[in-house]
Amino acid sequence: MDTPSSVVKNTAPAVNAHTHLYSGLAPLGMPAGEPAPRDFLEILQKVWWRLDRALDERSLRAAARYYLNEALLQGTIGLVDHHESPRFIEGSLEVLADACQEMGVAAVLCYGASERNGGREEAEAGLAECRRFLADNDRPLVRGVVGLHASFTVGDDTLREAAELCREFDTVMHVHLAEDRADVEDARRRGWPGPLERLLHFDCLPPGSILAHGVHLTVDEVKECERRGLWLVQNPRSNENNAVGYPSALHASVKVALGTDGFPSDMAAEEAALMRIGREHGEDPRILRQRKPAGRRLLVERFGEDPHVLDHSRWERGREQALGRREAILEMAGSEARRLWARMDAEDGAV
Ligand SMILES: [Zn+2]
Repeated sequence: MDTPSSVVKNTAPAVNAHTHLYSGLAPLGMPAGEPAPRDFLEILQKVWWRLDRALDERSLRAAARYYLNEALLQGTIGLVDHHESPRFIEGSLEVLADACQEMGVAAVLCYGASERNGGREEAEAGLAECRRFLADNDRPLVRGVVGLHASFTVGDDTLREAAELCREFDTVMHVHLAEDRADVEDARRRGWPGPLERLLHFDCLPPGSILAHGVHLTVDEVKECERRGLWLVQNPRSNENNAVGYPSALHASVKVALGTDGFPSDMAAEEAALMRIGREHGEDPRILRQRKPAGRRLLVERFGEDPHVLDHSRWERGREQALGRREAILEMAGSEARRLWARMDAEDGAV
């Protein structure tokens, strides 16, 4: 944990364009998968999908509050969250939204519908949570969108329903796209050139939709994303950590923002990782430098021209309050984290 002296003080607060509040407790001693995961799918199966199944209302609230409090101290004024808690779906977005509104962090929220644990029934519950939240939420600092986990964990009927929900509420999609080659291979097995073409065919990606990763997109596909007004979000620390590859085609669009994908919301550290890894891949540093500020444009696009969303003085007040409650939040997060690791162990990966 950073000491308060290292807390961001004077730089413009940033927007984290793709993250997961549900993983907020992970830095507090989450058990690693045993035996060690060998590839991206095993990382999901042995770590993150076990964590998300163990979440209940208490642990989710603690994760969100701990993550957001640190995010304020690390210089984050807003974030785009992608949420999943398969055993606590209905009402989960309320928990996240209340924490964001109370702490003064602007947020775009969705539930990432998936069929990976409970088939169509699970996906329908996920989309129903998006629908309920889109209809009910009136918090000034929070907006809802529609979410899918990723092309490779949903069938065609779920894609049709998600597209219909976007149309009904005139909103956008937030989805993981081509993060690992497995997503591309899955789409090809289903008869598509890739997951982008599959999602586009079912009208799941209205202009303004948010595509996390795009590691395995081609230059032509990235250009197509830009032409359609779709956002791509690069997550360099996560991509490196999961060894999924480097998104070498993202330079072909100006609509590319920066996210942490569940890593702490330290956008300066994320940008430093981007510059380091990008240089190793021969990228133009001037293009890379546009990605962190692009997150602010993405957020404004979702909120319209509401000046409140990027209000610097709100973030300064939030940061002061975050410092004041930091110890109490850490204590609460620590005890909920221990309970959560025990729930993960008890479940032992079973569905
Ligand atoms: Zn993600």
